[in-house]
Amino acid sequence: MNRLCLHTMTTKPWSLEDCARHYPKAGVTGITVWRQHLNGHDPKKAQTMLQDAGLEIVSYCRGGFFPAKTATGLQEAIDDNLRVIEEAHALGAPLIVLVCGAVPGQDLATSRQQIADGIDAILPSAQQANIKLAIEPLHPMYADDRSAISTMQQANQLIDSLGSPSHLGIALDVYHVWWDDALESQIILTGNKDRLFAFHICDWKTPTTDLLNDRGLMGEGCIPIRQISDWVDATSFTGHREVEIFSHRYWAEDQNVYLNQIAASYHKLYDNSL
Ligand code: ZN
Repeated sequence: MNRLCLHTMTTKPWSLEDCARHYPKAGVTGITVWRQHLNGHDPKKAQTMLQDAGLEIVSYCRGGFFPAKTATGLQEAIDDNLRVIEEAHALGAPLIVLVCGAVPGQDLATSRQQIADGIDAILPSAQQANIKLAIEPLHPMYADDRSAISTMQQANQLIDSLGSPSHLGIALDVYHVWWDDALESQIILTGNKDRLFAFHICDWKTPTTDLLNDRGLMGEGCIPIRQISDWVDATSFTGHREVEIFSHRYWAEDQNVYLNQIAASYHKLYDNSL
């Protein structure tokens, strides 16, 4: 099976209707829907539209951002995540990606505890809706304001600390963890615990001119994507490979041309694999 999935943010200028119309023509079989692209849609109608187009809804992006400096802020984050669960449920998405959050100037240990408490608070609702939650460790360059969880080891420890609930796992994004010398062993560990829930790919450009929105197409940078994929494929994970690229450069291009570039780089990477 073709395991190519696209995040709607990869083709940010397109509406959800555009994605449904164009993705399948390029051989894309899965879609991860970002909240901003679902905004203004009836989730159930969106689900029907995507499924009719032949796209499997892989996940919903994103929840998280639990840390805050006030009790009100902490509660607002939990309330917002409960809304995310409702939206994912209505859309028929089986998984929510969590970008866990951080607050500039707040120590990381405090933020990590708030993240654990926040996830603990929303887990019953996720379980009730039968939706999995995937913690996505983010590159440490985002440890100030986007994620106090920077490594798979930290994510695994957090999940362990919550008693290893079956609905809580990890989204591995090569952009964030490719540099980690414990990556292979952490992938094996995560796979053995049946908590590797999602796999995101793109590339790291040199130089990177924007910390958020200058990600590269696969093959354009220095990440050993195929090596990491092979480690992932050695686990029981058989899900989609999700192309998630934030790029001002590519968003400024004709998105149909770009879509074909994505498909070509994907096939160059994987055509001799299952
Ligand atoms: Zn990602």
